[in-house]
Amino acid sequence: PMAQAADKTLVVATDTAFVPFEFKQDGKYTGFDIQLWEAIAKQANLTYKLQPMDFNGIIPGLQTRSIDVALAGITIREDRAKVVDFSEPYYESGLAILVPEGSAIKTAKDLEGKTVAVKTGTASVDYMKANVPSAKLKLFPNIDNAFLELATGRVDAVVHDTPNVQYYAKTAGNGKVKVVASLKSGDFYGIAFSKGSDLVPVVNKALQELKANGSYDKLYETWFGKKP
Ligand code: GLN
Repeated sequence: PMAQAADKTLVVATDTAFVPFEFKQDGKYTGFDIQLWEAIAKQANLTYKLQPMDFNGIIPGLQTRSIDVALAGITIREDRAKVVDFSEPYYESGLAILVPEGSAIKTAKDLEGKTVAVKTGTASVDYMKANVPSAKLKLFPNIDNAFLELATGRVDAVVHDTPNVQYYAKTAGNGKVKVVASLKSGDFYGIAFSKGSDLVPVVNKALQELKANGSYDKLYETWFGKKP
């Protein structure tokens, strides 16, 4: 029988700004997550509408079922897996430090006592609290405002997901910022669903098919270059 959730127009949440996974370009959302979902929806014959929102609202939205699915570079974690369901992992990630070009900061230890911008509700906040408790955290629901804060010298560093800060430094950083130390690796992103969703096996199957037929790799190369 056809999965129940697959019969309606799904509300698919995505982050407001998380280059190069989801971001607004010429008035439309694009990026790796957006195009991966497009391909999954086509493969599994799902209809949906996108709903960009601050990262912080996504897991609560899945819990209250005001959204059905979310792709937002969401790190699969045990605490989250208690309240939402995850697809198979689809991208390996980690955390890194972004600093102004001339900064002396090189390692997590160098962040001690410093002012660091992080995004509300993300893994970076937990990492900093656990590993560099003396840092003063400035929280931003939208990472673009953290980058702005770094550009204007109001924080010493931004800590966020490695692919995001790398892409930002390369494309919008204007040579004024650099990515130093990788703080953490071996994180995996998953597509998140309301707990118990019958979409999980449907989406996992589509993801496997896209990996097997080369579509996933093609999309990966579009946004990140050849796989190492
Ligand atoms: N991967 C991070 C997390 O899940 C944040 C991703 C994002 O900012 N969209 O906490």
